[in-house]
Amino acid sequence: PRPFDLLESTIKDTAQDRQKIKVGESVVHWFKRDLRVYDNKALSFASKKAKEGGVPLICMFIVSPQDYQAHMTSAPRVDFELRTLEVLQRDLGEMGVPLYMATIENRKEIPGHILEKCEEWGAKHVYCNIEYEVDESRRETKLTKMCLEKGINFTAVHDDVVIPPGALTTGAGNQYSVYSPWYRAWAKHIHEHPHLLNEADPISPNPATTKQTFPHLFNLPIPTTPPNKLLTGTDRKRLTSLWPAGEHEAQDRLQRFLATKITKYKETRNLPAANSTSLLSVHFSSGTLAARTAIRAARDSNTTSKLDGGNPGITGWISELAWRDFYKHVLAHWPYVCMSKAFKYEYSSIRWSYDESAFQRWCDGQTGFPIVDAAMRQLRSMAYMHNRCRMIVGSFLAKDLLIDWRMGEKFFMEHLIDGDFGSNNGGWGFSASTGVDPQPYFRIFNPFLQSEKFDPEGSYIRKWVPELEGVEGKAVHDPYHRGAGGEAERRGYPRPMVEHAVARKRALEVYKEGLGRG
Ligand code: FAD
Repeated sequence: PRPFDLLESTIKDTAQDRQKIKVGESVVHWFKRDLRVYDNKALSFASKKAKEGGVPLICMFIVSPQDYQAHMTSAPRVDFELRTLEVLQRDLGEMGVPLYMATIENRKEIPGHILEKCEEWGAKHVYCNIEYEVDESRRETKLTKMCLEKGINFTAVHDDVVIPPGALTTGAGNQYSVYSPWYRAWAKHIHEHPHLLNEADPISPNPATTKQTFPHLFNLPIPTTPPNKLLTGTDRKRLTSLWPAGEHEAQDRLQRFLATKITKYKETRNLPAANSTSLLSVHFSSGTLAARTAIRAARDSNTTSKLDGGNPGITGWISELAWRDFYKHVLAHWPYVCMSKAFKYEYSSIRWSYDESAFQRWCDGQTGFPIVDAAMRQLRSMAYMHNRCRMIVGSFLAKDLLIDWRMGEKFFMEHLIDGDFGSNNGGWGFSASTGVDPQPYFRIFNPFLQSEKFDPEGSYIRKWVPELEGVEGKAVHDPYHRGAGGEAERRGYPRPMVEHAVARKRALEVYKEGLGRG
């Protein structure tokens, strides 16, 4: 059975036993990638249960350096998460709710630690929101069983996605593997089940006695950053001001986006210099904002009460956000995508290159393709990259350089502040043509044409590639072929590391040959 199915059936099997369990002396909510108080389903259920029993709600968050390592979590993301905990601790503290935080070196010991704490706090109910990746599903299945053996009720609920995986199937009863029909089914399902977008009930403050009962759980220090995830002082300062942490910032950002940008999203979303997208991905991926909350707010700002129709910018943004659900459904249904396998197994025989020095030039933004270099430098500086550019650099790595897309996928996770396994894996599969609903393999982006089309003034390039800031007009897209080679050379900007037309031909041959063998 797939890990997520196992979790679902374990939860179902234990449902009856759960009814019999009394509340105990406290109720626990286990925070993971849902670092917010507002519109958080499991937290809301936990609070309700605590209130019913007249006992305190205790929240916990466990840092595991091994998890960070296994998930290739970037240093900016770890820093963002730890900064978010400060906000969360303060907000919960104002309601008399403690946030217990601990660092557990060995991630396998997390379930045991949770159990130990529940016993110490007399908790008979633990709540959390489900994560759909393989390791996480397995961990939650294990915890469900371990808890039950100790007479503790473990409840994991759907919150991260708007529609739970498995709820949408094709006419033949299968999981969709193409986005467009899936999206139509997604939107229809929400129309038919409008409660899916409802806000979770707000949580209640704890009884005044909580601070006397559990004094040691208040004002705990924020866990320290593992040494291999530390940022330098200047990086931290820059990233803190670029990406302020916490759910209040997420809500403000959402409201600013809805008020000023969303209606023009459809025309502007592909222009990296336009600063026209929401920049909310870090909040969705760390759970400081629920996708449900954002979709509800976007829908309510539209002239129609539906997800489709009305302003195309609003509906377009909602449909982009739906990609996030789509990729999570895919990984819950086909968990092998979490195991470094191509979704399209017929693409498994492609002879990828593992040329370290070519890969390094891509990583460093030194390919000689200005749009690619601008994008990679944006990533290194902001821990973020515009979506159009993610597709351009992905196609360039996998097709022009024929480097194994998994190296790019890993590099992104190690550098993005918004790293999210499903969306990153899906985006790489799309760009390399090996994933679910990908670009056809013979569609190979021409980086120069992409650049002219989506950065027509060259302002994105000039911002991130200072060597080209003095290059005027269209030459900025391809200085060595368009008469600005002297200036580029003088400023130390490299020549293109491959000839695109030659690389394109080679990619077609290698893909075709791999497919033939696959
Ligand atoms: P907006 O345009 O404002 O979109 C709103 C939200 O919709 C985003 O915050 C995001 O949650 C979701 N979204 C938009 N586009 C996509 C998409 N194509 N796939 C999935 N969700 C989408 N997104 C991540 O959140 N984490 C990743 O690790 C990630 N890796 C990617 C790797 C590649 C190769 C590609 C092509 C795309 C990747 N994306 C990833 C998707 C997308 O690039 C980002 O979500 C988007 O750029 C974030 O900017 P924004 O918040 O301003 O997006």
